[in-house]
Amino acid sequence: MKIVRDVSEIRSALESHRKAEQSIGFVPTMGALHAGHLSLMRAARSTTDVAVLSIFVNPLQFGPNEDFSRYPRSEERDFELAEEEKMDVVFIPRVEDMYPTDAAATVTVGRLGEIVEGAARPGHFDGVATVVAKLFNLVDADVAFFGQKDAQQAAVIKRMVKDLSFRTRIQVEPIVREADGLALSSRNVYLSPEDRRQAPMLNQALREGAAVIMDRGSVADAERRVAEVATGAGFEMDYGSVVDPETFEPWAGGPALIVIAARLGVTRLIDNLQVIGR
Ligand code: AMP
Repeated sequence: MKIVRDVSEIRSALESHRKAEQSIGFVPTMGALHAGHLSLMRAARSTTDVAVLSIFVNPLQFGPNEDFSRYPRSEERDFELAEEEKMDVVFIPRVEDMYPTDAAATVTVGRLGEIVEGAARPGHFDGVATVVAKLFNLVDADVAFFGQKDAQQAAVIKRMVKDLSFRTRIQVEPIVREADGLALSSRNVYLSPEDRRQAPMLNQALREGAAVIMDRGSVADAERRVAEVATGAGFEMDYGSVVDPETFEPWAGGPALIVIAARLGVTRLIDNLQVIGR
């Protein structure tokens, strides 16, 4: 497994594979790897000839009062896991190389980046789209793997790829959960033991919201139920909404996605659940 830290070296590191006409799979992450990331690495390993993992805690996607500086970092352990998952290349660039002080160009995705999670975290999706565009240009993968855990992020990336004609195909993998339903997240390490006991109620809230939709209840009733279950478990709601899975506009029939973001103590968690349309 090759570890590449220099932005100027990643293209040449992949050149021999490209010359040999091997397909390249790419898994972008912020590190602190867990089983959710491992499932993306396995999907890459089984889909493409060459598997590239990137680890980059992207300052551009964190707001001023968010957790950039204390975001969990575990480089050595991440390398071990990447090795176990048979990654060919780990790209772990430095912030100052990714964003020289004179860097000015960014990518925005319009309304999809500004509603729901985008409204709760202004600028977040522009930061995501910008770093992913840059990583896509450097790695030039055939397929890139994203988790359904960050459903709106996956939608934003698909939009960017389509609108800006990137050649990379996007493959979205299902959410990996703990046995009690809590979606795996690098931020779960922030949870106190008491918070950890309550945390699965975030998923429970989604399930109860979905049941309301399936029982032909109204969107308002479903959203009320989601908020009720989550706040009852001690969460402070950012949003709990039934949306269109592609546009993230309010749901108006067809397949629905229930998305939630809520805070438990110092920890902000997100989750989502697809609901068969009616
Ligand atoms: P992150 O390191 O949090 O930026 O996540 C990197 C990638 O892993 C993103 O595509 C996430 O959606 C995906 N991911 C994170 N958590 C999970 C999970 N529990 N299940 C599946 N994919 C996940």
